[in-house]
Amino acid sequence: MFESYKSPWMDEELQIMRDSVTKFLHKEFVPKMEKWEKQGFVDRDAWRIAGDAGLLCASIPEQYGGGGGNFKHEMVLVEELSYANVTGFGNGVHSGIVAHYINSYGTEEQKKKWLPKMASGEIVSAIAMTEPGTGSDLQSVATTAILQADVYVLNGQKTFLTNGMTANLICVVAKTDPKESSKGISLIMVETDSVEGEGGFSRGRNLEKLGLKAQDTAEIFFDDVTVPRENLLGATEGKGFVQLMQQLPQERLIIAAGACAAIEKALKITSEYVKERKAFGKRILDFQNTQFRLAERYTEARLARVFVDDCAMKLAEGKLDEATAAMAKWWTTQKQCEIVDECLQFFGGYGYMMEYPIAKMYADSRIQKIYGGSNEIMKLLIAREI
Ligand SMILES: Cc1cc2nc3c(=O)[nH]c(=O)nc-3n(C[C@H](O)[C@H](O)[C@H](O)COP(=O)(O)OP(=O)(O)OC[C@H]3O[C@@H](n4cnc5c(N)ncnc54)[C@H](O)[C@@H]3O)c2cc1C
Repeated sequence: MFESYKSPWMDEELQIMRDSVTKFLHKEFVPKMEKWEKQGFVDRDAWRIAGDAGLLCASIPEQYGGGGGNFKHEMVLVEELSYANVTGFGNGVHSGIVAHYINSYGTEEQKKKWLPKMASGEIVSAIAMTEPGTGSDLQSVATTAILQADVYVLNGQKTFLTNGMTANLICVVAKTDPKESSKGISLIMVETDSVEGEGGFSRGRNLEKLGLKAQDTAEIFFDDVTVPRENLLGATEGKGFVQLMQQLPQERLIIAAGACAAIEKALKITSEYVKERKAFGKRILDFQNTQFRLAERYTEARLARVFVDDCAMKLAEGKLDEATAAMAKWWTTQKQCEIVDECLQFFGGYGYMMEYPIAKMYADSRIQKIYGGSNEIMKLLIAREI
């Protein structure tokens, strides 16, 4: 069913990349998923292997060690990770978000210092926006980074950091001017190898989650942590909020692309199952209820695909606006949760067993409606344009 539609942005080069990513994931990552899910994090050397295979920083210029591609290359990676059900590897944050903050706003020295190591997997990165007291309302972050002589002094607490336990480069959203609201926000790059062991920086627990079990998600604490003045992202303070707003459409589209691929995977494995499994002497697919429900869901999958493809092409041309990205994020993740739930139903009791991929997909899908800006916040962004 999905084979009859070809994404208009795909070409021969991207297909070659897709084939090699699929092979790589099934050889290197899929066999390790069970172990990673049990331990609660992806092995550190997985980042190195992924770097060697060209999976990291695919859309960062070659001069900084990246793959020299664009958003379409990130799309291929996000989709293939989703099709392979490899859900804990935080490359969306590392390559799709943090690398792009550095590439878009970093000074030449910052780009040269961090991007090549991020592309090779020597450095794992994270972004720290959310705090225990504020998530959706980013302007109210309480973490401060105050310039004293030649260093920024950081105080505060962040939570829910994807790659939080493993990251050695963290992009911290902090107030360099606490008297101001959004205009007081800056992005400060914290190199954990430099601050770890000094006493002021610490990581909390690897948080136990409902799904995404292989992804380390952590809290971090700053107590008079000092970082060099040169670690302010870009040359000027107070630009952090604007920088965040400019990059968020890409972050949201990465989530939407993952949702779209997860929908397709769920429908594919469910279609296979309902053709095999029998009840009352018929295949589950032979019940009209199954046919109608799957027909509706395949239709929604196609709508999601066409919309996300259109957004991806717009983003690659620098033309994706905030409201459209918000539409893609909320609608596809809402549909992902509904469709995965409905697919699980067709598996009966087996759908509830973790040995069936649909069970893991059910647990993993729930967060999609919350992170990257909750779906309620997405609707606020759209409503602003009405
Ligand atoms: C697995 C996981 C990974 C994450 N990764 C990261 C990461 O790497 N970096 C990072 O910084 N954060 C990360 N987050 C945090 C995530 O982005 C936040 O949880 C999310 O933005 C919501 O913030 P909150 O949890 O503080 O909820 P709140 O802001 O407290 O919201 C609670 C509820 O109220 C609703 N709400 C809030 N304001 C409004 C409003 N104005 N109108 C209507 N409804 C509203 C929300 O939609 C939500 O349903 C992650 C979270 C999880 C669980």
